[in-house]
Amino acid sequence: MVPHLHAPQNLPGLSSAGQLSLVHWPHQCEVIRDRIEHIDWTPPRPEPLYTPMGLEMKPSYQPAGEGTVIYLTEEANKDSGFVYSQVRGLSPSKQILHQNGDNTLIFEARFESGNLQKVVKVNEFEYQLTLRTDLYTSKYTQWYYFQVSNTQAGMPYRFTIVNFTKPDSLYKRGMRPLLYSEADAKKHNVGWRRTGNEIKYYRNNAGQGGQQYFSLTWTFQFPHNRDTCYFAHCYPYTYSNLQEYLVAISKDPVKSKFCKIHILCHSLARNIVYVLTITNPHEGDKDTKRKAVILTARVHPGETNTSWIMKGFLDYILGNSGNAQVLRDNFVFKVVPMLNPDGVIVGNHRCSLAGQDLNRKYKSNLKEFYPSIWYTRNMIKRVMEERDILLYCDFHGHNRKKNVFVYGCERKQQAKAPNLHPRVFPLLLSKICPDKFSFPDCRFRVQKSKEGTGRVVMWKMGISNSYTLEASICGSKLGQRRSTHFNTKDLESVGHHFCDALLDYCVPNMKYYLCLKEHEEMVKQQAKVNSEGLNSDVLDRDSSTQTSNSSDSCDLVAHQLKLGTKIKTKTSGEHIHRIAKDRSRESKNTQGIETLHKIFQELDPVGREMCYASERGGVRPVSGCHPPKMESRSREKEEKIHHRVKLPITASVKQVGECFRFWFSGSEN
Ligand SMILES: [Zn+2]
Repeated sequence: MVPHLHAPQNLPGLSSAGQLSLVHWPHQCEVIRDRIEHIDWTPPRPEPLYTPMGLEMKPSYQPAGEGTVIYLTEEANKDSGFVYSQVRGLSPSKQILHQNGDNTLIFEARFESGNLQKVVKVNEFEYQLTLRTDLYTSKYTQWYYFQVSNTQAGMPYRFTIVNFTKPDSLYKRGMRPLLYSEADAKKHNVGWRRTGNEIKYYRNNAGQGGQQYFSLTWTFQFPHNRDTCYFAHCYPYTYSNLQEYLVAISKDPVKSKFCKIHILCHSLARNIVYVLTITNPHEGDKDTKRKAVILTARVHPGETNTSWIMKGFLDYILGNSGNAQVLRDNFVFKVVPMLNPDGVIVGNHRCSLAGQDLNRKYKSNLKEFYPSIWYTRNMIKRVMEERDILLYCDFHGHNRKKNVFVYGCERKQQAKAPNLHPRVFPLLLSKICPDKFSFPDCRFRVQKSKEGTGRVVMWKMGISNSYTLEASICGSKLGQRRSTHFNTKDLESVGHHFCDALLDYCVPNMKYYLCLKEHEEMVKQQAKVNSEGLNSDVLDRDSSTQTSNSSDSCDLVAHQLKLGTKIKTKTSGEHIHRIAKDRSRESKNTQGIETLHKIFQELDPVGREMCYASERGGVRPVSGCHPPKMESRSREKEEKIHHRVKLPITASVKQVGECFRFWFSGSEN
């Protein structure tokens, strides 16, 4: 028996006046009254990564007693062995009192999603910072978000955060901290931007008893005197931000018709976990033909970038474009935008208030301990009773890798129904979003350690397209966006592209067929490698050798060439040289449009009788093919979406090229 959810009358968490419900904090947390808000702004140009000069300093950790403690919040972790235990119990919080003329910075992080435990002033412009571990744990320091005031413009400040626990970090590969200046926001309408020079991430001297700690240090200047500024690991997106977003939907007369907001459950601190159901109202009986798409985010609170991707997705799917209409006509979207509101509120990096990583608890039946996980799984079970689930995806941020990619699940022999293969959707995404999404970075192995994750559990429940989407907390290595940071608009665009990929997946077009074809080639190559007795995995490649950064269809060949080369270096077998050679020849002979045309000719015979170039930049066969079926649409809608161009299969390369031009140029919409 699967319990069902009840639909509340109004948006839960709101009073009739549209006021937000309180954000519930655990009682140990002390919170300031001020509401922290930031303006939405996108830098005019992508912000470059930091290039190390080789002269960066590595300030050593200053033990207790050195320097002056100027900020300290009581940690709730009684078993925490870290350095600040020596000053525990001084007071619930400590802020030094400022006198006139004192230029010491004033720190504050006791606000929603804030994280900063302690600050020691080392000298006039140098501060040593300690992050708060996830509540009720002694681990997981990564997320930081704090306020600094009493600033002096143009002075050479240095901050060093001393209690990271991960040996590897994107700060080693060019990532820069985020800075927000209230004065700049007010005067120049400028929001979060990258800052920092002399950035260094290194193992420090704070470790003891086998525990190692790592420091992140950077120098910078404040833009204004007596300004209030903020620093953060990634663009903050709080529970209150989500609530405001949902309120706007619930008040919108159009959006509220196809987006219903319900309570999924309450968290341990009694915060509401929301679930959104998005689909166009249908006529007649209950429609169970529409497949479901399930999306979740923020199970890990510090991965704030995923909320921006989710926002991008929701903006698109709730918009009035023809594409959004088609998607809402054909799917029922179930969206849990914030799985771990408590963790988000208190500024945790990874855990819930149970001190646990919720993305390892999808097999657990402890409803009281992990309510959002239990109720999400239950909701999915219930959805499965009434309709097929086309896709499940849980959004995550990655703290060690660049690009956007997915983890999927597959069985060894799965290539029989290629259109249902879990690699096809990410392959499509990589074509649509070539500067950010990397197919070669995707992995499809099910590791033992990941058995409690949403992705693996949903896959075992029968959802073959079950993914963890990983978006770098830093930026991209691909195409024109190489060596630049992602900003909030980039992250939102990933959400838009996710919709585009879904559309390509359900409305088969040229891109879709190319992806099937490309996938087929990969499978063939894998079979060949297997039959030749090599222990090489073509399909799941090692990321260390990935350099692929182009995206057009020639890339298929180039990519395989790389594969061939890679295998060669790995095994140096004769036959592998041959593969590489074949690929090389192939890549010379079939360039651009010709490759496309050739592949197109090989498509199944019905599908290639005639095709339409659509406004969206794909080519859609009239009939034939066997991808997931679309619900029939009204003629007007069809006309609206597809600007029809007849193209016979005898069309010349040039004609085909004309049709695909916009696709190649990447200027599709
Ligand atoms: Zn995560």
